[in-house]
Amino acid sequence: MAGEPQADCLFCKIVAGEVPATVVRETETIVAFRDINPQAPTHVLVIPKAHYPDVATLAAAEPQLAADVLREAGEVAHEDKVHGAGYRIVFNTGSGAGQTVFHAHAHLLGGRGLEWPPG
Ligand code: 5GP
Repeated sequence: MAGEPQADCLFCKIVAGEVPATVVRETETIVAFRDINPQAPTHVLVIPKAHYPDVATLAAAEPQLAADVLREAGEVAHEDKVHGAGYRIVFNTGSGAGQTVFHAHAHLLGGRGLEWPPG
């Protein structure tokens, strides 16, 4: 069923506490934790607790939950004090765009200069 935990999903295991993560923020609907391979001084993944394979599927099924992810990414940017200098929220969508974990997640990147266009 849509949104249900998937046994083979790494991020569902992080939500369940079965895989450890450095959690920086948690609400009823989302978890935010530091990326294991950070690409910037602040690199936090913000994920819905419910399982959707990518952000488009999430937004179509549960628009309020997609909004929760975005709002909480902004909260983490404030908590990590990267909001003033600017930060980026990225959703890699599909393997051709670099998505490797198929549980929707926002990358919050900040704390250094960020070039445009991204690679
Ligand atoms: P994607 O490539 O799907 O957009 O992003 C997946 C992210 O998950 C990558 O940046 C990768 O470093 C991160 N990641 C992969 N495995 C783990 C893990 O076990 N723990 C944490 N905290 N991050 C992970």
